[in-house]
Amino acid sequence: MPSDSVATVKMLCNGTWTAAASDRGGEVFNPSTGEVIARVPFAGRDEVDRVVQSAADALPGWSETPVVERAQIMFRFRELAKAHFDELAETTTREHGKTLAEARASIQRGIEMIEFACGIPSLMMGQSLENIARDVDCETIRHPVGVCVGITPFNFPAMVPLWMYPVAITCGNTFVLKPSEKVPLSAVRLGELLMEAGLPDGVFNIVHGDKACVDALLEHPLVRAISFVGSTDIAQYIYETGTRNGKRVQAAGGAKNHLIIMPDADLDQASAALAASAYGCAGERCMAGSVAVPVGEIGDDLVGKVSERGAAMKVGSTVGGSDVDMGPLITRAHLERVTGYLDVATQEGATLALDGRQREFDSDGFLIGPCVIDRVQPEMRVAREEIFGPVLSVMRAGTLDEALNIGRQCPYGNGASIFTRSGWAARAFKRHFNAGMIGINVGVPAPMAWFPFTGWNRSFFGDLHIQGTESIQFYTQQKMTMTRWFESGQDTHHDPIWKTRKG
Ligand code: NAD
Repeated sequence: MPSDSVATVKMLCNGTWTAAASDRGGEVFNPSTGEVIARVPFAGRDEVDRVVQSAADALPGWSETPVVERAQIMFRFRELAKAHFDELAETTTREHGKTLAEARASIQRGIEMIEFACGIPSLMMGQSLENIARDVDCETIRHPVGVCVGITPFNFPAMVPLWMYPVAITCGNTFVLKPSEKVPLSAVRLGELLMEAGLPDGVFNIVHGDKACVDALLEHPLVRAISFVGSTDIAQYIYETGTRNGKRVQAAGGAKNHLIIMPDADLDQASAALAASAYGCAGERCMAGSVAVPVGEIGDDLVGKVSERGAAMKVGSTVGGSDVDMGPLITRAHLERVTGYLDVATQEGATLALDGRQREFDSDGFLIGPCVIDRVQPEMRVAREEIFGPVLSVMRAGTLDEALNIGRQCPYGNGASIFTRSGWAARAFKRHFNAGMIGINVGVPAPMAWFPFTGWNRSFFGDLHIQGTESIQFYTQQKMTMTRWFESGQDTHHDPIWKTRKG
């Protein structure tokens, strides 16, 4: 139960950390213990307005600040994030529950986004072409778009916000972050470090809340662009509402990622990669391999090996940097949702090769062990819906073509991987599998900062993805200038001082 000693997280508005006026709010848990570790206020329309206005007021000064000076602040932010690396990882583990090693990896990926943003003076350069018509030159220049908003999910409390604002603000925009109300602490700590790096007041702001707060941001007339990462139905809602209100939107959604194992693959290597992909971060990753597709006669062997690995994983509380392989799920409600899918699967005729509910744990955290559901058919709910837990579904295929067809029937399209020794099969898979991020003998083909996060189908709504040069395009608008200069006027026309070789 919440106690009075539990702190309420603050909002960041115009460089000042303030308590929220709203009396609506929620609780932040340590998922390893079930304890409430903070309270989070839910902002209403007035507070959203105040925060967006502060971002709008800071925009003229910030967008006129030379790009190299903007990048210098990112260099300092990167140094501060590295100096506080352990603290940031511990905060992420405390509010999210992932293991310390997983939290550290996520902070490292986030810092790489800051490093990418340090290169924006080069990345923002425009293009020019002389003499595109007689005596006419043409150039494009990138301008910031204005006030940008980021709305982020619970599963990477520090990394996903870092996918957005370092690039957005270094491009000259100002920013309002609405972190997940389940995990606001890492985002707040990073906000403190960003202010310490010397960012002017109002350039970066944080507001907390639920749907009411998001709706106020989606409808606010001063907001120009919205980046969203979260579940598919909400991503679609954000995209439709944001674009209807005239905003540029990129909205990344949920996923169902397939791991195809060809009969020539090394099954020990493949099953190790499958277990790491399906059970890493307790399966709460949009790039988790959640469906294994063994091709040919290897199904029984593969299910045996991956179930053995799952059963051997140490699962438990991640408090105090414990040595577990897998931590808890985010909330009790989410744990119940995940276990509900195991019942649905058996009711629909699949079999449970490994049931993580049968484990016993020595903490009150939201814990479940790795699960394997075998003999899943395309029409079953567990084949079509994102479970977002440590559950690997197995869909057996007779041929590579059947495996490709399973991908075609899937409504999502984030990632997919193949395990094989055959270059021919790998090439066919890369070319024809219906997903935007492809792995070849790689369990989690999540791109690093320099490449875009290219989800397809119902895993992404919008045109320009997060990360890489697509993010520079998203956070800037181009201005084209066409220039023609005439020779000097009547008086000087015959003065040789103005003559060029051409004339
Ligand atoms: P979520 O959709 O419940 O929440 C995401 C954000 O939307 C939160 O900030 C939340 O406050 C807000 N929100 C929730 N309901 C809303 C509503 N009805 N109206 C307006 N805003 C609302 O997602 P989550 O449970 O926090 O995160 C898990 C999901 O995120 C999974 O589906 C996962 O696949 C997805 N995800 C996708 C990617 C990607 O790159 N595609 C990356 C990470 C996570």
